[in-house]
Amino acid sequence: MTTSSESGAPEGGAEVIEALKPPVGEEALRHREVVEGEFWKRIPAYADVDTETFLSHTWQARNSINKPKKLLKTLQDMVPQSFYDDVAEGFRRAPMSVRVSPSLMSLINWNAAYEDPIRKQFIPVASRCLPDHPKLGLDSLGEQADAPVPGLTHRYHDKALFLPLNTCPVYCRFCTRSYAIGPNTDQVEKASLRVNKERWAKAFAYIQSRPELEDIVISGGDAYQLRPEQIEYIGMTLVEMPNIRRLRFATKGLAIMPQKVLSDPEWLDAITKVVERGRKLHKEVVIHTHFNHPDEFTWISREATNKLMERGIIVRNQAVLQRGVNDTVDTMSLLVRRLGYYNVQPYYVYTHDMVKGVEDLRTTVSTAIMLEKFVRGSTAGFNTPTFVCDAPGGGGKRDVHSFEHYDRVTGISVYTAPAVKPGQVFMYFDPIHLLPAEGRARWADPAQHELMVQEALDDARANAVG
Ligand SMILES: *Cc1c(COP(=O)(O)O)cnc(C)c1O
Ligand code: SF4
Repeated sequence: MTTSSESGAPEGGAEVIEALKPPVGEEALRHREVVEGEFWKRIPAYADVDTETFLSHTWQARNSINKPKKLLKTLQDMVPQSFYDDVAEGFRRAPMSVRVSPSLMSLINWNAAYEDPIRKQFIPVASRCLPDHPKLGLDSLGEQADAPVPGLTHRYHDKALFLPLNTCPVYCRFCTRSYAIGPNTDQVEKASLRVNKERWAKAFAYIQSRPELEDIVISGGDAYQLRPEQIEYIGMTLVEMPNIRRLRFATKGLAIMPQKVLSDPEWLDAITKVVERGRKLHKEVVIHTHFNHPDEFTWISREATNKLMERGIIVRNQAVLQRGVNDTVDTMSLLVRRLGYYNVQPYYVYTHDMVKGVEDLRTTVSTAIMLEKFVRGSTAGFNTPTFVCDAPGGGGKRDVHSFEHYDRVTGISVYTAPAVKPGQVFMYFDPIHLLPAEGRARWADPAQHELMVQEALDDARANAVG
């Protein structure tokens, strides 16, 4: 240890403080820096788009990409023809419809389109597709099985998930609700969860009839797509129910089209009204959003979250852990710190649901455990997300660490959920291509499948508490 007399520095506290904590470089403050300026202008179709136009949510919606032809018109010669062909085939095979906002299009690095974390989430390319895991199903979370009314899932004791509609401002390739969200595709015919006042009325009647329900997640689809009067109608109906104490409007909008918060005052006022009514009634009304990568947060997101802060609206984030998107310590830490800095509380990071057609995006439970170790301690505890696995089959969200069994060779983890479905066990399966050779070999042999599952269940039952 260096003392001040040895180093010849003047006596005083400053020297001691410096010895304990060396000064930080710019690198350590990187989470504060976000994309500034007219970043969209490098996209050929947006070269002449001014800030006012780019901030218009109607312009964003009108110019969203939903067909390969429109992609070509937007990007022109930024990517080679081979890429367009790959995308066209990707569109044909995808279980989800495609819709990408200009806001997102402008954030993709088209010179490295295959590796780009935002491209990977929204634009399917056939050449990177991997076969689905043999244990994967279309409604992997069993949301329809736990639904007393179509579009209302009552799984947990005191909270329920209400899906008032089935459209979103963008469609994520990896959507858990590909069973219902968006128009039918070549691959999937969707369960119908359209805007329908009668279906809503049934959901409200059910919610009112269950005194244990205190907490409603209004998701979808995406609350961004609800008209202001619909936001108010749903929000006020629920917030006035004596049993209801907490409401969350779930929208990926803030992440993929923050423009709306700035250019659709009627929508924002409708949300604000519900929040304020809630405050009067001592009930919490918040927004839950969905940023997955730190680059998704631009100056426009900052303006939007500032506006929500000014109105006293709490925003929390639920991210999905995805391979090649946010599965490194560096990217996940940056995401968590950037969100926290701009008043978006990182709430959850989910291991990827077992969704069709996105095996390239899934990663392992062990990756989630590793990342959590590095993220925890890097910032405020209340801005540190819980890493969860939404247990396939309807077990609900479980802390990834709480498995009764986890075998990194077979990739099988087993969870129990004593407060949700006592006595049952739930399994999650790591993607096969990330397993060690021994595990891949066992999955290559169908005769081994049930054996692996049985081994996992036997071990889990021996360990399980509850
Ligand atoms: C995620 C979810 C909720 C809310 O759960 P929290 O852990 O409180 O965020 C409620 N119902 C269903 C069906 C869900 O999937
Ligand atoms: S915004 Fe949400 S509901 Fe809509 S496609 Fe994406 S993940 Fe699915």
